Amino acid sequence: MRTAIFGDIHANLHALEAVLADAADQRCTNFVCMGDIVGYNAFPSECIARVRDMGCPVVKGNHDEQASMLGDQEGFNALAEEAINWTRKHLSNEDKEWLRGLRLQRQVRDFTIVHATLDTPHKWGYVFNQLDAAASFSYQTTTLCFIGHTHVPMAYIRDGNVRATPLDSFKLQQGKKYLINVGSVGQPRDGDPRAAYCIYDTALGSLKLRRLDYDLQGAQQAIRDVGLPERLADRLAIGR
Ligand code: ZN
Repeated sequence: MRTAIFGDIHANLHALEAVLADAADQRCTNFVCMGDIVGYNAFPSECIARVRDMGCPVVKGNHDEQASMLGDQEGFNALAEEAINWTRKHLSNEDKEWLRGLRLQRQVRDFTIVHATLDTPHKWGYVFNQLDAAASFSYQTTTLCFIGHTHVPMAYIRDGNVRATPLDSFKLQQGKKYLINVGSVGQPRDGDPRAAYCIYDTALGSLKLRRLDYDLQGAQQAIRDVGLPERLADRLAIGR
């Protein structure tokens, strides 16, 4: 079984369509969404519809929470806040209700998914290093857990100590635990502007990071057309 694990779409429909087409080419038959479907880009409602219609497991991201909550948002920088305010105006009540209903973490077959961390999923902390990963590992009951949130693909491996290694592609080994950041579909921040997602092949026991060119100019133009900040278009091109 080959499962495509993708998240941090951030309303970038151009990137999402490229990822889903590639996953089909790569013979993926299962799909898992790591959250942050909305925020930053111009197609929040369309991306929700696309993911919702797939009927796959989805966890909630912090932007999904902020865009759908009833009170005022908090803890966002000015750029993210401007995008969230725009997003709220462009989601239907049905969209918001669906986002509100998403769970923070789930077990899917033999692995766990959570947007931020397993130690405090509701606080939206970031796994940036081995120390952060160790805290999350202490709550991880499955061999494999997938996360997102930093928009930087990375593999953390616990085998006595915790070490970090680029995701690329590797085989899972017995006796170890894995915390895998699958990167971002719609707003990568590792300096590589290509859309990112991960394929988990259960028969091979392997993980593979995919990076894809997509219609980046189309996504940038859409940001300008709807009046979202120009900086959101600029950052797509540099992958930051
Ligand atoms: Zn995100």
